[in-house]
Amino acid sequence: MSYRVVSPYNGKILKEFSVATDEEVEQTLTNANNFYQQAKEQSIEQRAEQLSALADEFTKRTDYYANFLTTNMGKLISEARGEVKKTVAFARYYVDKGAAALEDQDYTAMAGGRKAHLEFSSIGAVVAVEPWNFPYTQVMRVFAPNFILGNPVILKHASIVPECAQAFDEACQAAGLPTGAFKNLFVTYDQVNQMISDPRVQGVALTGSEKAGELIAAEAGHNLKKSTMELGGTDVCIVLNDADLKKAVAGAVSGRLRNAGQACTSSKRYLVQSGIYDEFLAAIKKEFAKYQQGDPLDEKTTLAPLSSKNAQQQLQKQIKAVLDGGAKVLWGDPTPVEGPGAFFNPLIISGMTYDNPMYDHELFGPVAQLYRVDDEKQIVELANHSNYGLGGAIYSEDLNKARKLASKIETGQIAVNQPLSSLPELPFGGIKKSGYGRELSDLGIREFANIKTVLG
Ligand code: NAP
Repeated sequence: MSYRVVSPYNGKILKEFSVATDEEVEQTLTNANNFYQQAKEQSIEQRAEQLSALADEFTKRTDYYANFLTTNMGKLISEARGEVKKTVAFARYYVDKGAAALEDQDYTAMAGGRKAHLEFSSIGAVVAVEPWNFPYTQVMRVFAPNFILGNPVILKHASIVPECAQAFDEACQAAGLPTGAFKNLFVTYDQVNQMISDPRVQGVALTGSEKAGELIAAEAGHNLKKSTMELGGTDVCIVLNDADLKKAVAGAVSGRLRNAGQACTSSKRYLVQSGIYDEFLAAIKKEFAKYQQGDPLDEKTTLAPLSSKNAQQQLQKQIKAVLDGGAKVLWGDPTPVEGPGAFFNPLIISGMTYDNPMYDHELFGPVAQLYRVDDEKQIVELANHSNYGLGGAIYSEDLNKARKLASKIETGQIAVNQPLSSLPELPFGGIKKSGYGRELSDLGIREFANIKTVLG
């Protein structure tokens, strides 16, 4: 097990970190538990002020924090600055709205007139296991609500973004957050399991792949610990005949190529109605052709490398299987990119059938699948023919029709006439193999709360 930074752009090993000792893990659990106990005596307002200082720290040194995103996992520097801004927005949301989401809720009317209310209180430490694709926002999504609630968070970050993990720790210290409220640890999988089994830990939040979800959810279940699973997806982007073509193309392309195609809610499958199919295909080919690969630190680059050589090789293998399985490349060059960088040529493919071995596999990179569809029945059947159920987007100028269609798509969220994106005020999460639980919004702050019923 190694935590190290390898440049996705040129393959150079930039930094290595040693794994935490068991003593460090123990100390972290002790500090976390101390914070949990102390926070019960503190006011939420006090923690909101501290969280606000953390948001200020990220704002003041946006470029400093953004740089780690680009050097560790290859994100375009402009997107990296955008991620720092979004991290701040997630924190600010809970600074402003966290307390209101935790106010007692009167249940007297629900209890048939008997006096009753609900209280929302902390439960203990939450272990957050997080992915490399959005190294700060994913962490803030778990940390901000839990901090306001009074739950400490212990982070196990992806092993390829150790400087991002460390930077989050550094930001917490710079903002003067109390000891134990947040701690990054470079732990092994075994140490993660040990922490999950420790009584001081009461929750596990994972964002990652289906495979990691199965293992960590099983560990949490075995220890009867509450968990949330934010996993992968094969989201659809549905373009109906009456869509505004320009809007649909812009949304579909940015929805697929942002973050070099490595987002859980990327528009991975375009389902396009026959009446607009040819125009849509011509337009997206033109847009895909505009993307320029290069150094992600260079402001002129518009398509970043993938996060690692491993990610590149995995996607190359998947594309080979896609094409061997009968699908066709409509646009782009599927030849593997040589060299030390983890580059991947963008592709538009069609002819994916249910019996293709890669159908319903998450293609985590700049690869769009195109399907020609006729009626609503076919759209719903295809969209829902997936083990995943994360998000999606629908483009149509008939909002009523689009919203009715949205209700029939089996996902945790869906956007109309815009690419799906996580917003602090709206619940985020999936169904089926995309996981369970919700992050962000008032629901996110209650995931690891003791919802206590008080009768009388
Ligand atoms: P991953 O390989 O599952 O890793 C995610 C995290 O889990 C990493 O920190 C990883 O550590 C850790 N991990 C994996 N197996 C583990 C185990 N057995 N015990 C303890 N920790 C374990 O996923 P990824 O490749 O980093 O991220 C991409 C995936 O995340 C995609 O499927 C994407 O769709 C999904 N995602 C979902 C959302 C959402 O909100 N639904 C958001 C973003 C990403 P190591 O790095 O050390 O292996």
